[in-house]
Amino acid sequence: MIDSVPHLMPKNTGWIEVIAGCMFSGKTEELIRRLRRAQIAKQKVKIFKPKIDVRYSESSIVSHNEQSLPSETIDDINEVLTHSKGAQVIGIDEAQFFSNDIINVCNQLANDGIRVIVAGLDQDYRGAPFEPMPQLLAIAEYITKSLAICVVCGNPADKTQRKTTSAERVIVGAADIYEARCRKCHYIPVEA
Ligand code: ZN
Repeated sequence: MIDSVPHLMPKNTGWIEVIAGCMFSGKTEELIRRLRRAQIAKQKVKIFKPKIDVRYSESSIVSHNEQSLPSETIDDINEVLTHSKGAQVIGIDEAQFFSNDIINVCNQLANDGIRVIVAGLDQDYRGAPFEPMPQLLAIAEYITKSLAICVVCGNPADKTQRKTTSAERVIVGAADIYEARCRKCHYIPVEA
């Protein structure tokens, strides 16, 4: 994973890093790791997440292994522009739940000299690209695809298996509703 992070850090410019993958692949853990490093270097860090995701906390981003960092919960991604005055590094978790405005917002922040680190699900439970992640991957300077381990066969997994029959694209949940599966073991659930 480390290889996807810039070794030669850009100077006097912003840039965009995207951490993409399925559930249980350690995306938020990796986001927290990078943001903590920036905080240790005394850089001013701001963290945002969408209102839809208050599974573990209203006011923090939390990984499945229970690491956390304080964050601001927002409805509209455009709020990042007005809520990040003075920030040098901005972290955004669960980016797939924001509108396509996130493309403009991230570009604007990076153009203003900010390091933007975005984590999100790159595919929905059917295995279809989950907007706006494909667009974010296209505009990012640095991309990390994090893989989980298939619960069925142990192969590297990049798909999120839903264990319910609902046809809704978004059902917020964790290990009770979802598990990581590889291409071979993933299937599209028959919808009720
Ligand atoms: Zn498998």
